[in-house]
Amino acid sequence: MFHICKIVIGISVQVVLLLSVAPVSAFEIDGSRWPTAETEFYVHMNGLAASGISWNTAFIAAMNDWNEATSFNFILREENRDPCANDGLNGVDFSDDFCGTSFGNSTLAVTVRRFDSAVLGEPTISQADIVINQTKQFNVYDGNLIQFGIQGLDFRRVALHELGHAIGLDHETNTNAIMAPNIGNLDRLQADDIAGAEKLYDGAINCVVQELGFGIISNALDAFDCTVSDLLPGSSDTSPIDLYRFELTNAAILNLSMSSATLDSVLLLADSNLQVIGFDNKSSNSCDSSLTQFLPPGSYFLMANTFDVPVKTECGISGEYQINASFNSDGQNPLGSATSLSGAAINASFSGGITANNGGSFGNKFNPNASLDISAQITIDPLHQGQAGFLVVAAAVDGQILLLNEQGQFVDLAANPGVITRAVNKTLSAVESITVVENLVPASLGISEMVVGFYFGYGLASNPDELYFHQAPLNLTVAP
Ligand SMILES: [Zn+2]
Repeated sequence: MFHICKIVIGISVQVVLLLSVAPVSAFEIDGSRWPTAETEFYVHMNGLAASGISWNTAFIAAMNDWNEATSFNFILREENRDPCANDGLNGVDFSDDFCGTSFGNSTLAVTVRRFDSAVLGEPTISQADIVINQTKQFNVYDGNLIQFGIQGLDFRRVALHELGHAIGLDHETNTNAIMAPNIGNLDRLQADDIAGAEKLYDGAINCVVQELGFGIISNALDAFDCTVSDLLPGSSDTSPIDLYRFELTNAAILNLSMSSATLDSVLLLADSNLQVIGFDNKSSNSCDSSLTQFLPPGSYFLMANTFDVPVKTECGISGEYQINASFNSDGQNPLGSATSLSGAAINASFSGGITANNGGSFGNKFNPNASLDISAQITIDPLHQGQAGFLVVAAAVDGQILLLNEQGQFVDLAANPGVITRAVNKTLSAVESITVVENLVPASLGISEMVVGFYFGYGLASNPDELYFHQAPLNLTVAP
């Protein structure tokens, strides 16, 4: 049997036969993946198979097979690119050798992958090129590999196999798979091949994700938590990690600090594909972390992490921690995902902000002498627009819940148990704007320190016990 290929890392001729001895799953992945579930592939080869099918058609069909069966997407670029060029572009072509090195007798093709190092998990793939051994005789056909009257090896299944390496899969020795090290009678992707690609790219986050509320977050990292290897399949990092999701519709500068009496703190910021875009800048000889980062609009994760083996003698690797999160933004930002008291699905969105300079910037941490405007906007579920309804504003302070009444005063929920005090009754528009306070100077009320979490919600007159609201509070931290 022909050995289909070698996987080559970088241009240096490092032939890697990554065959795990004790695979956790049947399919083989080495933890390396593309930062997102797609890449452009340049395909423009000359010539036809004896069957009359062009090499390009067969290769593109193999790309489409992966696209249709998995979350990964090869984007076709119908141009030729030298697969041996270190140009950041993925190409395919026939050659007598692969980039100056002999294929050897049994190798049909080589996939060359290049990587970018990653802060968390394994390096990510940055380029993958495929070189086909043109000294071998290829053809294009379905079914068994050797058939009476057909000359050559089926090129399409070789392309499927090499594209599997390009995606991040390794050889599969234990079960029926296109990713088997040797070419055989299988001519299409198998369940194991698809499962491997899905494991890398299905986008499922195999860890509990909490919504980030700014201010102070108290939590713990321990053996009950998700690990980096749970989060990023293929990674060998078994350190525990907590995830907090947040979204910015306006650019912001985040100021984060993480401290613990017991554990070595690691703070990370990642984009929606779990690619780390910033991590802690540790002060020397400290178990604490801090991070200041500018973020353009987008979806992000704040991650609290530690190490899998102790690095510093004075710091442990489990226990309680506290994160202090503040921000300064150009505008109002979303307040987490929408929810309802009954848990019913809802298509509304909530945003809010606090400004001390009449909307010049928004943040959550203010001096007692600042003059604060606090406001929110609710994009009402289209099904609820135009209906008679009401708006609710809640403030959580020191374990107490206060609700804004129609007179503009906050009243203690405990004083009217079971009653949802309304801020206003009205016909619901597409977007409802709520002003909580204007020109509030905490010091003028004798307040020098205070932490408040504001929540905004609405309901329908026809269903007065249901309330639609958001998960992440609008945090106000007043501190000198
Ligand atoms: Zn291979």
